[in-house]
Amino acid sequence: MTASPLFDIAGTVALVTGASSGIGRHFADTLADAGAKVALAARRTDRLDEAVGEIAGRGGRAIAIACDVTQSDSIVAAIAAAEAGLGPLSILVNNAGVVVSKPLFEHTEADWDHVVDTNLKGAWLTARHFAHHLVTRKRPGRIINIASILSYRTIGRVPAYCAAKAGLAHLTGVMAMELARDNILVNALAPGYVETDFNRTFLKSERGQRLISRIPMRRVGQPEDLDGALLFLASPASAYVTGAVIAVDGGHGVAAI
Ligand code: NDP
Repeated sequence: MTASPLFDIAGTVALVTGASSGIGRHFADTLADAGAKVALAARRTDRLDEAVGEIAGRGGRAIAIACDVTQSDSIVAAIAAAEAGLGPLSILVNNAGVVVSKPLFEHTEADWDHVVDTNLKGAWLTARHFAHHLVTRKRPGRIINIASILSYRTIGRVPAYCAAKAGLAHLTGVMAMELARDNILVNALAPGYVETDFNRTFLKSERGQRLISRIPMRRVGQPEDLDGALLFLASPASAYVTGAVIAVDGGHGVAAI
């Protein structure tokens, strides 16, 4: 059976931030297995090297790039390194993120800055530098922001995270509007709870188990549950989609409680 050209991303070059673990690491694998050349960016380069080795072992093409998304210079250097290593970039998976979970009054200013600087300012800086790079070269592209169910729902203990992810969903619309004329499509994927290092301990806790019982599909997501939406947003299948926030959450976002 031949794969549909609608979802064909073979030969494209993608930059994935936060690719050293969890969803980002999985997305790098998914894109590489679909034939894209992938630049994996994060701060823990030992983990990136390991991932690159595994992708190469399956016949894929990938490189590891040290990058801190809170630092403009680091992002600009990562974009240059990705192109030098793999060729013209067209896809950004803007995935790097951190969470701090504490009751409201224990959340410090430093906690707030850490979360907002990474999840919102870092995502904005990365998308902005990536888009600028393409626009100045008159090249089309895709930006896929990794938002969250907490972009539009709330839970306690993660005020900075909720605010940052809500901001990222809104920023997706603004960037989509401004970049449409440059053929750069900007969308967000909003996962529900997906089991990774981010939340494994929480999901095992009593609070976590209660939360899972309120998901209509009665299970948390696995990284591979996000693959369909990722490949849709990266491929010709979404040629007329921009400014969308696509929820992949087992129905959690529409649940009454
Ligand atoms: P992980 O903790 O497994 O991965 C987070 C990634 O972000 C790591 O690769 C980390 O790499 C990277 N990162 C953190 N800070 C920086 C930084 N300053 N510069 C560059 N990279 C950074 O978490 P997940 O895979 O679960 O989360 C990935 C994304 O998905 C996040 O944006 C998260 O908010 C979002 N998300 C996750 C959900 C879930 O349930 N797991 C649900 C909804 C959204 P390193 O430390 O090596 O730099």
